[in-house]
Amino acid sequence: MDEFEQIARLFRPLTFGAPEALDLADDAAVIASRPGFDLVITKDALVAGVHFLADDPADLVARKLLRVNLSDLAAKGAEPFGYLLAVAWPSGFPDAGRVAFAAGLEQDQRRFGLKLLGGDTVSTPGPMTLSVTMLGWAPTSAMVRRSTARVGDALLVSGAIGDGGLGLLSAQGALSGISPEHAAALERRYRLPEPRLGLRPVLRAFASAAADISDGLLADAGHIGEASGLGLQVDLDRLPISPAAATWLGAQPEEAVARLALATAGDDYEIVCTAPSDRVATMMQAASAAGVALSPVGRVIEQPGLLVLHDGEPVEVSRTGWRHR
Ligand code: ADP
Ligand code: MG
Repeated sequence: MDEFEQIARLFRPLTFGAPEALDLADDAAVIASRPGFDLVITKDALVAGVHFLADDPADLVARKLLRVNLSDLAAKGAEPFGYLLAVAWPSGFPDAGRVAFAAGLEQDQRRFGLKLLGGDTVSTPGPMTLSVTMLGWAPTSAMVRRSTARVGDALLVSGAIGDGGLGLLSAQGALSGISPEHAAALERRYRLPEPRLGLRPVLRAFASAAADISDGLLADAGHIGEASGLGLQVDLDRLPISPAAATWLGAQPEEAVARLALATAGDDYEIVCTAPSDRVATMMQAASAAGVALSPVGRVIEQPGLLVLHDGEPVEVSRTGWRHR
C-alpha cells in the first residue's frame, strides 16, 4: 500500500465520519470553537526500542500510543475529542502490520470516544516512530495544572505504582522469581496502560495540581513541585502496590531500595495529584465511586525538592526517573 492507499484504506475509516476531518481529503482539519470550553492539546511520541519493543504486536503499540496521550488528558481533567497521527514506518514494514496497527487504533477509539482528524504518513530508515497530537475539551479555565499545588496539600496517586517498570523488565526477560500469572499481569500493564479517565471530574472538583506519571512517580511528582515552586514529601511505605509487584517486593533484599525502584520506574501512566488535606477523604470516596483508587503518599512542603522517606527515615535518591537525552 502506498501512502495514499494507506490514507484511504487504513486512516479515512478512523475519522468515523467526523465533519472536522473533511474525509482526510484536505490539507488540514478544522474545529469550530466550543462555547464554555477550552481546547486542551497534548502530544506524545513513541519510538520502537525506547517506548515499546520492536516485536510488540502492532495493534497493542497503536493502543499504547493512544493511551499515553489519553493519560495526559485524564490528568488535565479534559474530555477526549480527537487526534492527529504521524506515522513513520520502518522501510519494508509489512502491510499486515499496518492493518493491525489501524485495527488497534479503531478498537481504542471506540472504547475512549476518539476520532482521527488528520496526520502524516512517511517511511524512515530508522526505527518505527509514532506521534499523536491529542485534543480534548475542559470547561473554561478548569484544566488542572502542575503549577498550582499549595503547602500542606496532600499528595495522592491513582492505581498502583511500579507495575509498568516491572512489566518492561519482565518483557525483557530480566525479572525472575515471580509466577507466570504475575509476569503476564505486569507485562500487560507495560504494553497496555489504563488511562485514568474516570478521575477527570474528581480532579476538576478536588485537585489543586496534577500530572500523569510517565517517567516515574518521583520524577513526575517532582515536576508538580518545581512548577509550583514548592517541595514534596513522598512516603515510600505508603505506595499503592499491585499483588504482582508485592510478590516481587517480598523477594527483594532491601525494602527501601526496592520501593525506590518502583517509585522511579517509568511507564505507569497513573496520575499524581495534590489536594487540600481536609478534602482528601471526600476525594478518595469520589474516586472510588468513579472506579479508580486514589492513595495518599505524601504532602506538599515549603522546602523545594523531594524529601523521600521510608518508615519516617530519609532515603537518598540519586535519580528520580527516566530522562531522555
Ligand atoms: P500533505 O501533502 O499536506 O502532507 P498528505 O497528502 O500527507 O498532505 O495528507 C493528505 C490528508 O491525509 C491530510 O488530510 C492528512 O491530514 C491526512 N493524513 C495523512 N496521513 C495520515 C495519518 N497517518 N492519519 C490521519 N490522517 C492522515
Ligand atoms: Mg503528508
